Amino acid sequence: MDRTVDVLVVGAGPTGSTAAKYAARGGADVLLIEKRSEIGTPVRCGEGVAKRWLDEIGLSPSTEFICHEVDGARVVAPDGTALIVDETRAGNECGYVLERDLFDRHLAKEAAKAGAEILIKTSAAGLLREDGQVVGARCEHMGDHFDVRAGVVIGADGFESQVGRWAGLETHLRTRDIAACLQYTMVGVNGDPRHHDIYLGSCAPGGYAWVFWKSDDTANVGIGVNLSKIRDRAEAKRYLDDLIGRTPSLAKGEIIEEVAGAVSVSMPLERTAAPGVLLAGDAARLIDPLTGGGILNGCLSGKYAGEAAANAVATGDLRDRPFVEYERRWKARLEEELASHYLIKERLLHLEDETINKAIRSVVEAKPERITAGTVLEAIRTRHPEILSVFEGLL
Ligand SMILES: Cc1cc2nc3c(=O)[nH]c(=O)nc-3n(C[C@H](O)[C@H](O)[C@H](O)COP(=O)(O)OP(=O)(O)OC[C@H]3O[C@@H](n4cnc5c(N)ncnc54)[C@H](O)[C@@H]3O)c2cc1C
Repeated sequence: MDRTVDVLVVGAGPTGSTAAKYAARGGADVLLIEKRSEIGTPVRCGEGVAKRWLDEIGLSPSTEFICHEVDGARVVAPDGTALIVDETRAGNECGYVLERDLFDRHLAKEAAKAGAEILIKTSAAGLLREDGQVVGARCEHMGDHFDVRAGVVIGADGFESQVGRWAGLETHLRTRDIAACLQYTMVGVNGDPRHHDIYLGSCAPGGYAWVFWKSDDTANVGIGVNLSKIRDRAEAKRYLDDLIGRTPSLAKGEIIEEVAGAVSVSMPLERTAAPGVLLAGDAARLIDPLTGGGILNGCLSGKYAGEAAANAVATGDLRDRPFVEYERRWKARLEEELASHYLIKERLLHLEDETINKAIRSVVEAKPERITAGTVLEAIRTRHPEILSVFEGLL
């Protein structure tokens, strides 16, 4: 079973499938391996994405993987005050609710159409090296081990990535840079699918809880809690169950699926490339540390990694320029926003419920036509100047 390809992509999440698609489009012979027996399941995701991004990763909105569009979000303070942030007031940050399992399959299909070969039930178990250069991976398929030699290995193996560690890249995360997540699919609930619900404050310490409505009676309900704020990951469940119990739109619903996971809420990795290896998506810690959203950044970095890998193969430069160029590209596009969101997340970790209540009440009462940093600060300055300095730093 030993074999040789130009590019081996480890992990068929959104990042890996996008990387495989662009590497294949660039003329490379690509193998995409996925350890699960089914691409896209189980869904470990809130399934919310901003509209503006599809274009950038070369996808058109399609009912094949979009459940529906949303007009905005209801941001709920600990005291129950709700601020509606919609498209007319906040611009193009509104988005879609995905069918994430179908989305991941759609991307895998695109990779296959571009010419990539896909092997499911196949794990990378270690990297092959020669002269300090990664030259492929040891793989395992249903108990059989075999070597895949590759000019470039793309590590798109998600939050728990091993490819980065195997390649000697520094991937360690501090506890405060991890959010423990728990997510339910609930039926028999009762809500407005045009708006996401976001719950802030001590109901989700250091994070937030979400209700992304799939329809008026079905919702993706979840929570992300900063790991430094809880004793163990199981506590996330207690917070989520408490919130559901006291939220009238959810309390009478039934849970038909429960999935636990984690996201990094850290700065991106300093180094995401080593000779013969590129890391992308969650494996490179490219999740937005403020929102926990990582699909867009995963797909974008996957695209850049796929193009860089194809270029490396075409030019025969398997350790230098295409790898430097990969890091330059994702950093130019994503690093500044990720760094500023990281600083905001660090500050939010310390916000008291009463401060959040005052801020949200201020904006609700001020009724600004547009919600911008300026109008929010003005609303707070007028009503609660004592907390202005907190938000001046944040916004
Ligand atoms: C509870 C939760 C809710 C979230 N909600 C949102 C949201 O609403 N919006 C948003 O944008 N983001 C959300 N995210 C983040 C988003 O899911 C990730 O950013 C996204 O999945 C990243 O894609 P990826 O391809 O990099 O990693 P993944 O989707 O994790 O894919 C990695 C793949 O690699 C495979 N793999 C791992 N190791 C190996 C190996 N050794 N060999 C072969 N295959 C391997 C895995 O099985 C997996 O399929 C959420 C995350 C969680 C946990």
